[in-house]
Amino acid sequence: MKGFDTMGEKVQFETGATRSATPAGSKGKPVRYDLISPIALRRLAETYAEGAEIHGARNWEKGLPIWDCLSRALAHISTYCGGDRSEDHLAHAVFGLCASMHFEESPAAMDSRSWEAVVPVEPSPCPACGLTLQEGATYEHETSTGNDWTKVLCPKCGMTGPYGDDEKMAIVLWNDIPRVKE
Ligand SMILES: [Zn+2]
Repeated sequence: MKGFDTMGEKVQFETGATRSATPAGSKGKPVRYDLISPIALRRLAETYAEGAEIHGARNWEKGLPIWDCLSRALAHISTYCGGDRSEDHLAHAVFGLCASMHFEESPAAMDSRSWEAVVPVEPSPCPACGLTLQEGATYEHETSTGNDWTKVLCPKCGMTGPYGDDEKMAIVLWNDIPRVKE
């Protein structure tokens, strides 16, 4: 790449600025966001805008069954293969794959192994004191920058999770906190 020298663990740009080598994604795998097709990204973003218009922004994050995402993605691909160009079937298919990947990695609403429908999000036990919160989770609310934010609060030890934009998202973020495995 022009103006881009690899120096072991670092890269140096022709301006002289250095950065650490390729940024790492999950499990230390290198990531190259710069190689993703900007055309595909734009069409995907248009699909998200369409969805936001119809269902509200971030509706999909509430949880979609993976089987449903994949079924619709396949339907879009099949329709595209049949010659239909009435909507952006490829971008719609990618949306379904993106949501599937999201729910595969996110501890949110999905159980991708059983391919079952949405299950309610239950708070995991407190990472600090181990208190089981299924019945008695408490929440702290705060308003800032015009939004209401909610975080899970452990009633026993006072540990709190990150703020989410509603209780469900607060639980998802709380459940994301690493816990020591038995
Ligand atoms: Zn606790």
